Amino acid sequence: MNENNSLKKQEKNFIIPIVVIVIIMLIIISLSLVYMKYIQNLIDENTLKNLGELTSQDAENVKNKIAQHKKILDNLVNQINEEKEISNAKIFEIFENSLAKDEFSRVGILYEDGRCITSDGEIVDLSDDIESFFSSDDIQLSKSRKSRVDQEEINIYSKKIDKGIENIVILLVIETDNYEKIFSGKIYNGEGNEYIIDSEGIILANSNNRENGYSLFNILGTLKGEDNLQKQEKMKTDIKNNLDGQIKYNISGKYYYTSYEYLNINDWYLIIITPGSAIAQEYNKSLVITFISSIIVNFGILIIAIYIVMSNKNKRKKLYELAYVDKLTGLGNYNYFIEISKELLKNNDGRYHLIILDIDKFKTFNKQYGRETGDKLLQQIGKKLKQLVGIDQLITRFSNDIFAILLKENRLSTKEFHKLLEKINDELSNAYIDGIKYKVLISIGVYNIKKNENDIFHVLDKALMAHESAKGNYNHKYEIFNEHLEEKILKEHYFETKMNEGLEKGEFKVFYQPKVNSQTGKMQQAEALVRWELDGKLIPPNEFIPLFERNKFIIKLDTYIFEQVCRDVSEWKNKYNKLIRVSINISKEHLLEKNFVKEYCNIARKYNLMPEDFELEITESATIDDNVDLVALLNEIKKAGFSIAIDDFGTGYSSLSILQNMPIDVIKIDKSFVNQPRMLEIMMIIANKLELKTVIEGVETKEQVIELQNLGIDFLQGYYYSRPVRKVVFEKFIEDMF
Ligand code: C2E
Ligand code: CA
Ligand code: CA
Repeated sequence: MNENNSLKKQEKNFIIPIVVIVIIMLIIISLSLVYMKYIQNLIDENTLKNLGELTSQDAENVKNKIAQHKKILDNLVNQINEEKEISNAKIFEIFENSLAKDEFSRVGILYEDGRCITSDGEIVDLSDDIESFFSSDDIQLSKSRKSRVDQEEINIYSKKIDKGIENIVILLVIETDNYEKIFSGKIYNGEGNEYIIDSEGIILANSNNRENGYSLFNILGTLKGEDNLQKQEKMKTDIKNNLDGQIKYNISGKYYYTSYEYLNINDWYLIIITPGSAIAQEYNKSLVITFISSIIVNFGILIIAIYIVMSNKNKRKKLYELAYVDKLTGLGNYNYFIEISKELLKNNDGRYHLIILDIDKFKTFNKQYGRETGDKLLQQIGKKLKQLVGIDQLITRFSNDIFAILLKENRLSTKEFHKLLEKINDELSNAYIDGIKYKVLISIGVYNIKKNENDIFHVLDKALMAHESAKGNYNHKYEIFNEHLEEKILKEHYFETKMNEGLEKGEFKVFYQPKVNSQTGKMQQAEALVRWELDGKLIPPNEFIPLFERNKFIIKLDTYIFEQVCRDVSEWKNKYNKLIRVSINISKEHLLEKNFVKEYCNIARKYNLMPEDFELEITESATIDDNVDLVALLNEIKKAGFSIAIDDFGTGYSSLSILQNMPIDVIKIDKSFVNQPRMLEIMMIIANKLELKTVIEGVETKEQVIELQNLGIDFLQGYYYSRPVRKVVFEKFIEDMF
């Protein structure tokens, strides 16, 4: 079936939840990104703050230490000054006995000529930078330098002493290592580095046992990074201007935190550099946790969403199937038909046909062969329809045995379309189920939808009208809707509302048409024909009998008519002392009624009449139904005593063998043969052979009478003698002619 349209609708319904899910996921991702960014900022802020504090603390320590050193030198100089006589030996002795001995390597006495005599007995030449030592009266601290005594890395505290004759400077030499001892020890698990540098970036001391004397700026400058150089430029400027600061910079994706603080001694700075990876594992952990939990949450949402979508999809699919699919045939159902037709007819270019078809007496078929076989028949019809009209057409099953096809054809001429309808009827009429052949009667109604007509219910009404009209009409293989049909259907609908009331009010009247013995010319028998006196008009049976056959009202009506006839016959019996033999029409619907024979016998008996007094007229078309054992039925009727006439003989398709097997008394030749002597001759041969009585109806002229008399037909009936007439009129005939 063509599911496209509805599925598309379903797909549209999916877009909304998917979009919602994606949005939720995006929100979660961005929230977690924002959160991570927030955490990162927090980490940066905290790290730089901690680093700053650490730097301050160490800077303070360094300053204190240096102040302490200066104090030691100051004390030493004071002690020297207190001596009346200052000799080198005395100075060295004071040094040896002072606290300075513990931390300082040696003391030196520097003369203005650059000679320096040290406490360890060396004489070194410092004439090259004599200026720096003699330039100030305050205690000075030198940059790190190589000791000219032992090549160690040292710093020198110096203070000038005025000895009157000549100035000397007392030098206290300390190994640079000593400053490194002041540092906090392992910074950030040993991953951090602490330095004392000067304003040029030259490393004076470092925490990591590296050699000093290199430029930290140069080292940092070689590291490439987006904001690295820019940030370091700021740091250099800060350092030149004796400003403190903290920076974070990025080198090839790695973060480094740096804090620097001016020591207020010379141009010295304390600087701590640590890689981000070393910073508080906790923070990183929480970042990772945030990231992972965001992924888990997202994943969870995704799974839940997929589950919801899938279960919705399944649910919807099931609902869709329940709502739109006919389980048995796999075709669409009525709802599906309505929905899709509505869509299709929006672009109605006048090439659409609506075909409604069903199987006559499907219920009986089911009863007779079983539901399973019935189901197989329906499935087969579904398949055949697909083959016949094409799977791209809208083929649906409304209910039970009713199928509807909205056919769009671009290629077929009207003639070809009619051929197709015929073919559908032919193909569907013959079914092979499990190797057994079944014959069914198919009724097809068609409405050729007009261009731009798009009210599907209106369209459906018309196709149903055509179908209704096709039903029970075995002369045509299909019925196409036309305006007359509509009129007819409307009239029938009206009849349907009035029929029961009509029966109660006695609106159905029996008319009698005499049958004349062709040899004697005497009226001997009569046929009872019904008329409906409705709204002051006399309605002929052709207008309502087919309807009543379809809606089964005929059973009530025929019984009623039979009772009327019995009453009349019984009345005439008393009145004229004559038993008038009346034939009664019986519809096939009625024949199939279970207790029909018994009921008719009872009615006859009620009026003191016998079944033998009546002839039942059964149309030839009633005999063409493979699925009903008509022979048995007729035998039952016959056994009860009724005589049987085959009505409209020659119009149906009854085979001679059937005729031979049936317990028939009379052949009632159809009026269409009145002017066909050749055919009549043949019929007479058959009738004579089978020893059947013959009646012909529709005799209208004197010439016909003569011809028919010559052919040896037993009874003549027709307008030539009399139209069907009311009881009172017919009684005149009885008085005059019988
Ligand atoms: P039918 O049984 O073949 O009845 C004969 C029809 O031929 C009658 O039509 C009758 O009026 C008509 N007819 C008689 N002589 C002539 C004639 O010389 N020329 C022409 N052109 N027609 C003639 P009617 O009464 O209109 O009935 C039509 C059909 O309705 C009947 O055909 C019968 O099949 C059905 N019918 C009538 N009454 C009943 C009834 O009580 N029960 C049932 N089940 N069917 C009935
Ligand atoms: Ca008849
Ligand atoms: Ca007839």
